[in-house]
Amino acid sequence: MEIVNAIYKLSSVLNDVTNMIIFKAKQKNLEFHVNVDETLPDELYGDPVRVRQVVVNILNNAVKYTDKGSVSFHVEGVRDDDMINLIFTVKDTGIGIKSEDLPKLFGKFQRVDLERNSTVEGTGLGLSITKNLLEMMKGEVNVDSEYGKGSTFTIRLPQKIIRDEAIGNFQEKFNQYIQSMRAYRESFRAPEAHILVVDDTDMNLTVVEGLLSKTEIKIDTASSGFEALSLTKKTKYDLIFMDQRMPQMDGTEAMQNIRSQDGGMNHDTPVICLTADAVSGAREEYLRLGFTNYLSKPVEGPAIENMLVKYLPESKVILQKTFADDESSNGTDAGHTELEEFYETAEGLSYDDAVRVCSNEDILARTLEQFYRSINENSNAIELFFMNGDYKNYTIKVHALKSSARLIGALKLSDDARHLEDCGNDLSESSMLQIQERTPKLLEDYRSLIDILSPLYAAKDKARESAPEISRESLNEAYEAIKEFSASFDIDAIDSVIEEVRKYKIPESESARFEKIENSARNMDWNGLNDALKA
Ligand code: ATP
Ligand code: MG
Repeated sequence: MEIVNAIYKLSSVLNDVTNMIIFKAKQKNLEFHVNVDETLPDELYGDPVRVRQVVVNILNNAVKYTDKGSVSFHVEGVRDDDMINLIFTVKDTGIGIKSEDLPKLFGKFQRVDLERNSTVEGTGLGLSITKNLLEMMKGEVNVDSEYGKGSTFTIRLPQKIIRDEAIGNFQEKFNQYIQSMRAYRESFRAPEAHILVVDDTDMNLTVVEGLLSKTEIKIDTASSGFEALSLTKKTKYDLIFMDQRMPQMDGTEAMQNIRSQDGGMNHDTPVICLTADAVSGAREEYLRLGFTNYLSKPVEGPAIENMLVKYLPESKVILQKTFADDESSNGTDAGHTELEEFYETAEGLSYDDAVRVCSNEDILARTLEQFYRSINENSNAIELFFMNGDYKNYTIKVHALKSSARLIGALKLSDDARHLEDCGNDLSESSMLQIQERTPKLLEDYRSLIDILSPLYAAKDKARESAPEISRESLNEAYEAIKEFSASFDIDAIDSVIEEVRKYKIPESESARFEKIENSARNMDWNGLNDALKA
């Protein structure tokens, strides 16, 4: 074990660990409280990977050995010149530890209270590694526990202060971070474009304005059909978003009036319906009424963006090649993006390589999510072919892993997969032996990326979890739409259908199929897509 010191941001480490633990705590229905002293310096010198590791070990235990109640996480510091002793306190309301067991905890392979813990998995290494790492970093860990009531673990860790800029309200930053994870970043600007948004609820107007603020599109708003009609006489718009449900004059009526208005300047302007009831058949209905297209509410960034790119005059749209060069959204971190920061803390992943191979961060972000979401399916497939001795398919699969791991910058995993691919092609006795020996480790490393990457998608997955379940009817309709679009190879349209469906929970019985559809679409694997649609 090595300590590799570097300048790092405490907030970034705390983001990672809390984001990861909050998800696990939620799964067990535990409350998770975070409290970080706002005056702590943010820029420190130390080993962020190891700091993360020791804190995660302790937090993981707290969640693991607590069945109900809460886990709280406090971070404060005691200054000493240009050093600070960080104090991490993790308190749980779990099963507690008998006082006679306390001295054993930090030994190798020590697990205590085995009668109670018989169903809890573990190797008993976590705390011994934690203790060793802390000793190497001149820190320490202590425990205080009351059997049956709960435990408190305290870590003290001296780190050097690089810049004494306060970390600030961590909770706020944490929320911002979660927001930015799901944040939509516009991929185009259109400063010459002029649009009208009609909605009787001010908040909805604000939402749309907010979503589009960075596109520099000129936006007029109207809070009723009547107001809209007076504006459409004066100004020629490039596009109109029209709320459907408004008092007195509803969206359909307003749209039809705009189309035929005496002296109106917008007879041919695309009018997009905004509707909260995206029921089955809605699309056809809105088109039949005369709308150009429709968007379901709540309106989300990518959807509205797609619509604009589709219907704004091409000459007014300036496509942004990447969003990696969007400095303004990266806060104070001299050009470091969130994803880049994440990579810094993720063991075994190289950001630079990934961005180079993917050519830009936008593609990397998409590839990474796709990679993450297919780990289960792919690793199971490799394992199955391996166990069945189906080396032909095994080799195809590790070949694919070799490439996809390289795309996300998991270079070692990629190399390991390449080695096994070579063995699979060769099939000599020694190669077979290699496959037997090395595949379990490959699978383990591959699957470990689920835990490593999950913090990136925790917020999104959580949102998915709390969403209402989609109806059979809507789902079937989505399948139909995807079929149609796949006939014309319209991947953007397919993406937006998938995105729409993803706003809902998918019924258990359909989730594997939908995942297959999603993965095939992401890979533009048209055969796979058709197979999945047929099923
Ligand atoms: P792993 O190697 O996967 O972490 P583990 O959690 O069993 O396995 P350690 O983290 O080293 O191993 O913890 C050692 C033992 O200490 C655990 O098996 C458990 O009995 C006890 N323990 C650790 N943390 C707590 C806690 N917060 N509450 C109660 N018991 C705990
Ligand atoms: Mg443990």
